[in-house]
Amino acid sequence: MSRSTIISTIQSRGTVPVAFPQQKVTEYFASNVFNHASIQKFCTTDAFNAIKNAVEHATPIDRKLADAVAEGMKQWALSKNVTHYTHWFQPLTGTTAEKHDAFFEPDENGNAIEIFNGKALVQQEPDASSFPSGGIRNTFEARGYTAWDPSSPAFIMEYESGNTLCIPTVFVSYTGEALDYKTPLLKALNAVDHATVAVCQYFDKKITKTWSSLGIEQEYFLIDEAFYNARPDLMICGRTLFGAAPAKGQQLEDHYFGAIPERVHSFMVDFEYEAMKLGIPLKTRHNEVAPSQYECAPMFEEINLAVDHNQLLMDLMEKISRKHKLKVLLHEKPFAGINGSGKHNNWSLITNTGVNLLSPGATPQSNLLFLTIFINVIKAVHDNADLLRASIASAGNDFRLGANEAPPAIMSVFVGTQLHNVLNDIEKNKPNRDARSVGSIKIDKIPEILLDNTDRNRTSPFAFTGNKFEFRAVGSSANSANAMTVLNTIVAETLKQFKMDVDGLIKKRKSKEEAIIEILRGYIKKAKNIIFEGNGYSDEWVKEAAKRGLNNTKTTPQALDAYVSIKSEKIFIDNKVFNKRELHARHDIMLETYIKKVQIEARVMGEMAYSTIIPAALQYQKVLIDSVVGMRSIGIPKAKMNSQMAIINEINDRVTTIKTQVDKMIAERVKANKLIDNHKKAITYCEKIKPHFEFIREEVDKLEFIVADNYWQLPKYREMLFIR
Ligand code: ADP
Ligand code: MG
Repeated sequence: MSRSTIISTIQSRGTVPVAFPQQKVTEYFASNVFNHASIQKFCTTDAFNAIKNAVEHATPIDRKLADAVAEGMKQWALSKNVTHYTHWFQPLTGTTAEKHDAFFEPDENGNAIEIFNGKALVQQEPDASSFPSGGIRNTFEARGYTAWDPSSPAFIMEYESGNTLCIPTVFVSYTGEALDYKTPLLKALNAVDHATVAVCQYFDKKITKTWSSLGIEQEYFLIDEAFYNARPDLMICGRTLFGAAPAKGQQLEDHYFGAIPERVHSFMVDFEYEAMKLGIPLKTRHNEVAPSQYECAPMFEEINLAVDHNQLLMDLMEKISRKHKLKVLLHEKPFAGINGSGKHNNWSLITNTGVNLLSPGATPQSNLLFLTIFINVIKAVHDNADLLRASIASAGNDFRLGANEAPPAIMSVFVGTQLHNVLNDIEKNKPNRDARSVGSIKIDKIPEILLDNTDRNRTSPFAFTGNKFEFRAVGSSANSANAMTVLNTIVAETLKQFKMDVDGLIKKRKSKEEAIIEILRGYIKKAKNIIFEGNGYSDEWVKEAAKRGLNNTKTTPQALDAYVSIKSEKIFIDNKVFNKRELHARHDIMLETYIKKVQIEARVMGEMAYSTIIPAALQYQKVLIDSVVGMRSIGIPKAKMNSQMAIINEINDRVTTIKTQVDKMIAERVKANKLIDNHKKAITYCEKIKPHFEFIREEVDKLEFIVADNYWQLPKYREMLFIR
């Protein structure tokens, strides 16, 4: 299809009507989730209690009870027209995986019967040989298995052709090593729970359990499907490898919070309805800063559930957008020169007594608990900034971090003026005038105004926002489990150390409060250079951070090193999140993913340059040449053709440069592919191959500017971003 046909097709599309749900939200919310209410309705009391204990106390469910749970789950599913079930898991490919099995099996008389028992619920052995395993599971072994995660409820995915019961599971190798995102996350959550409870016990003996909360803001682009299908780079790499910047981008700032276009609105209503049925508590939707960029955000939930819901949400957006002839772009940087997309991870710790530990309290005593957790988180980020940076590293996020309105690759923490003053006072042992005593020491009363959220900094990668930290550097396509596994592990580690430090002082006959304050004071001193309140997008910060000795690791292969440093290795092993083999396997998989992404982009780039760009340029050049020849034949002097000649020459020069660069890039690839070691290979791809992208792109984008519009095949930025 030519560009003009694409555009007229799009303009005649109109909005796909969506029947706005007639019921009240409460009637359809979580209607496709095997939640408390449906478990109670379809399961025996024993089975119900087994699930409850499994969720609350991680008590294993025995085979007999598993049969009973499976029976209840099956009855519930059959009442909702389900024909198949699947173990739903998150392998390291970055997507979700499922393998559907029918509920029906023929019996000995050839009649179909409905089969689904405890064994099928609890464990499956998908032929998983083609999922990445970093060498843990040899391909020919193909033995990985999925195991039920009762802490995330089963749900039903609706399809035109029949509904499927999805059972959230972990995915591990036959020898027990994690092959997915969920397993280490669950372990990290366990570690942070124990470490936090131990510290909370100084303050309140009733705190016996804590859980990490996560609210994920998801940014995305939405463009017409026809544009997407006409761009091999978008289709295969998820981002445009070429494309000249439009005359109008986001500089007018007229998109943010603007009216949502009709077609887009219809899509949003549609997918929100589907999401709500799956129990995803979507609350917010709005336009983002860049044209055709949007955001949605659910209410925060327990982390494991929030991560599952985000993965599900991404799948759902993809599926529903097709119905609207739209395409969701989840890549961190689909378009150069305008904003990229992130996935802000709002994180906190909440106790069984209902206290948000990152919410400043009303009394000096509760403020001390708040400050303890708050300062420990800052120290955790300070001590493990490189690991936190590694947790968000990906080929896609490299284009976003530090570019156009994205946080830089430097990890820093924003705390706001008031808390900054409080930390200074504690450090200098100088409480405010209105400070009140806790035991023998004085604690500042933190003004309530903090809860107003007034003090905001949108340029910080890790910002305190009144009652939670917002990790803003996570990439839009990432599985948040990676970042959350690291964050919860380093906080667990820091709190464990804190407990030992405080106990040490108590043994030396200090009062509990004195000990806590003294240790916190030391932590502030040590960690304060990670705190930055200014503009994180500015060049001054890059310089200032360098002075402070903070790292600014710009590329993924280098950033990933932090996963396997001796320090990180110890933290992961001590907190039982990864064993050494798992950690190194994971590091290898991440390197390999990086290599493949850059390799694929390089291939697509070469192919598009040769098969689409250069032919368009030469066709137009021929028109110019014909025109020059024609003018000469009717006697017009050559001196009068300077403009045509200049364009002809420019096309020639640029085409030559493109071809030379592409050929060089291919030669570098041939060399890189001979490397066996993934670390070396990833660095080579990053340093020797990727730099060609910019050169090639620059030439192509200049051609786009001079080649006659009707010869240019690829949809242009202005069209993709503004026509809907
Ligand atoms: P913003 O001002 O950044 O738009 P909101 O206050 O609207 O942020 O919340 C953004 C996300 O943070 C939402 O998903 C919200 O549920 C979540 N959130 C709010 N409180 C907490 C908390 N205590 N823990 C984790 N997430 C939270
Ligand atoms: Mg936010």
